[in-house]
Amino acid sequence: MTRRVFRLLALVAACAALSAAPMKSAQPPRQPRPPNFIVILADDQGYGDLGSYGHPTLRTPNLDRMAAEGQRWTSFYAAYLCTPSRAQLLTGRLAVRTGLSSGVLFPDSTGGLQPGELTIAEVLKTRGYRTASVGKWHLGVLPEYLPTNQGFDSYFGIPYSNDMDRDEELPAAESFHRYMEPRLEFFRVPLMRDKEVVERPAEQTSITRRYTDESIAFIKANRDRPFFLYLAHNMPHMPLFRSKDFENRSRRGRYGDVIEEIDANVGRIVDALRDFGIEQNTLVLYTSDNGPWAPYLEQAGSAGLLRGAKSTTWEGGMRVPAIFWWPGRIKSGTVSGIGSELDLLQTFAALAGAEAPRDRVLDGYDLSQTLLGGAASPRDRLFYYGSSGLAAVRHRAYKAHFLIPPPGNELGASRPSEGAPQLYDLDQDPSEKFDLAARHPGIVGELRRMADDHQKTIVAVKDQIATRTGTAGRAR
Ligand code: MG
Repeated sequence: MTRRVFRLLALVAACAALSAAPMKSAQPPRQPRPPNFIVILADDQGYGDLGSYGHPTLRTPNLDRMAAEGQRWTSFYAAYLCTPSRAQLLTGRLAVRTGLSSGVLFPDSTGGLQPGELTIAEVLKTRGYRTASVGKWHLGVLPEYLPTNQGFDSYFGIPYSNDMDRDEELPAAESFHRYMEPRLEFFRVPLMRDKEVVERPAEQTSITRRYTDESIAFIKANRDRPFFLYLAHNMPHMPLFRSKDFENRSRRGRYGDVIEEIDANVGRIVDALRDFGIEQNTLVLYTSDNGPWAPYLEQAGSAGLLRGAKSTTWEGGMRVPAIFWWPGRIKSGTVSGIGSELDLLQTFAALAGAEAPRDRVLDGYDLSQTLLGGAASPRDRLFYYGSSGLAAVRHRAYKAHFLIPPPGNELGASRPSEGAPQLYDLDQDPSEKFDLAARHPGIVGELRRMADDHQKTIVAVKDQIATRTGTAGRAR
């Protein structure tokens, strides 16, 4: 071949490459599909209420397998009660910033999560996600507060706690008995689809299974596009209902029946993800909204080795199980660094390539490097709010209480007392038994300054919890 012919051939090849180039660039660049997110939130399940968190008789094989394959967090936090916890989870903002911190909403409450707040669903919508809210909402029942006005394409669930719409005129002993030996008609809670009531009282013995059916139908319908499913079970909040299949099946009594039914239904969701072949593109989180509701004797859950229970700012009130599962992506293991439901919005936004809101204070951290790479958690602090406001601060292992939770299992506000401040080393003393305040006044001072600096970022907003019309509790 002469040199001239060789040059000609090279020229032809170059032209061909050039002419092919525009065709290639006409194709949109291939973006990896953003992951699906599923948050499964239990109600009042304690830190100790899973086999993988040390319970000796509860059988939770599905969640335990997810814990073994994924990440099991041992310092993960919710808020002290249902409503503030859900507000924090969905907005990534402390509930004190949204006026939802001082207690819980009731059926006759006129407040709720303000539509101007941005939820995870709204953030993911910017990346084309389909979104569903299934289960307990508890962020307001007026139409503007419901899920379908907060970024969710659909809603199916009981819009508040499963013990509401009850006869509040009853003597305390009779009321307590109705919680311990519940019948459906004692608790006339509605079941809603989007903005309509479709059943009342909700048939609660099948509610865990029906929430799961609805979730699997949503997953199936959206298996070819990114989705966010927020599945908030009403159980194991008192009163405890379970289906015939799980009645008296557990060694842990009625509470155990309920937890084991939830576990079996989590297993159904994982099976569905595998059946549809999307398990490697789906991050699932299982967690709880607060600690166990202690007054209900053996029907209450357990905070394990942690002190206190729901409604308190002791660890047992706010530290909850948290299992992250995403086969092939999450670095499996146990994480003892601090995490919070407040971190989900920024974490999911990062993983989805969405932008977290910049026009408001967020209280979360992006945990994605910890989840995917096993990096140390970026969160080194936590602010514990009770019904009276900021009650405690944790920085790394140290936690200072500035308001002391009430003794025993009663519901009640943390308050200043002769015992405050108290200081605990949560690495050495996770049960908060040994007060170190007198020994380490310098550390108490540092935590006090941290609390003061934090409180400067809080802007007073209208308390959404405060206003009720006075009609709750009447049987409707
Ligand atoms: Mg709760």
